[in-house]
Amino acid sequence: MESEKIHCLIIGSGPAGYTAAVYAARANMKPVLYQGIQPGGQLTITTEVENYPGYPDGVQGPEMMVHFEKQAARMGADIRFGLATKVDFSAQPFKVWIDEEKLVEADSVIIATGASAKWLNLESEQRLNGFGVSACAVCDGFFFRGKEVAIVGAGDTAAEEALYLSKLCSNVHMFIRRDEMRASKVMQERVQRTPNIKVYWNTNTEEIVGENKVEAVRVKNVKTGELTTIPISGFFVAIGHQPNSDIFKGWLDMDEAGYLKTIPGTSKTNIEGVFAAGDVQDKIYRQAVTAAGSGCMAALDAERYLSAKGLV
Ligand code: NDP
Repeated sequence: MESEKIHCLIIGSGPAGYTAAVYAARANMKPVLYQGIQPGGQLTITTEVENYPGYPDGVQGPEMMVHFEKQAARMGADIRFGLATKVDFSAQPFKVWIDEEKLVEADSVIIATGASAKWLNLESEQRLNGFGVSACAVCDGFFFRGKEVAIVGAGDTAAEEALYLSKLCSNVHMFIRRDEMRASKVMQERVQRTPNIKVYWNTNTEEIVGENKVEAVRVKNVKTGELTTIPISGFFVAIGHQPNSDIFKGWLDMDEAGYLKTIPGTSKTNIEGVFAAGDVQDKIYRQAVTAAGSGCMAALDAERYLSAKGLV
């Protein structure tokens, strides 16, 4: 198997990974960054970003991530396509396998693998995924122009995606499992003011109906037990995210949801020389700017670690 030895490996290509790469490259750590399955991370599936400082007129998420990548590359980071599939953190240098076909041995590792969309875990949802079922309105809403769609979820993501879909689709049926929304007040108000979004409170999805494509959805009112079948063409899931930390199980401390634990105020994990940044270790803030900030912290922590060991 092909192998190489480096000072600093960065896993992940969202704001945390690329910011770590900018700092690590400028500190002459010669970082290698593997992008993972979704280069640019979650921001590549959003539209307008209005709250990232430095863009007075806002910016499209995918465009912003191109800027991040270009900046890291200009500083000298070695940016590669590839997915970390296995790790061995038992000894220095740390071992990380890429696509099960290459071994990278690194003096320090910065984990910035982010988080991924959660699913309802219905058989029909999995079977029809890609055939009318989607976890990204911005990616797939276009296919349902002028059609009836449904969305499940009640957070800011669900509200944002329902509003996005309302501009493309004839009607948006929004299923909320409790009698209130978790989304911020302003987003809730926008949803409720939109005439073609119909909100169903206390409503759970029982089944998505259709053989080879989505034709309808069957929902249940948990208060009354009433079952309703609504004809739709697209079904969107927006119920939050889970951290991409599976390959670190058994090596790194994590909470019950799988978020990596770091020593408060630092990016240090329980293994000296392994650092974590961005959404994989943050279930509270989850913003591009906080992810970028923690990526900076991880690179500075890694630089101090490598210097103290005399490795850079
Ligand atoms: P959240 O965790 O905030 O919300 C998830 C929603 O999905 C909750 O309403 C939850 O319901 C619901 N849900 C979870 N599981 C199920 C299920 N099995 N069936 C039905 N409903 C379910 O995730 P978001 O992705 O919405 O947001 C994540 C973070 O990102 C938040 O902090 C949010 O504020 C932020 N964000 C900010 C934006 C902005 O400012 N523009 C845009 C998007 C996100 P329940 O409430 O009952 O638990």
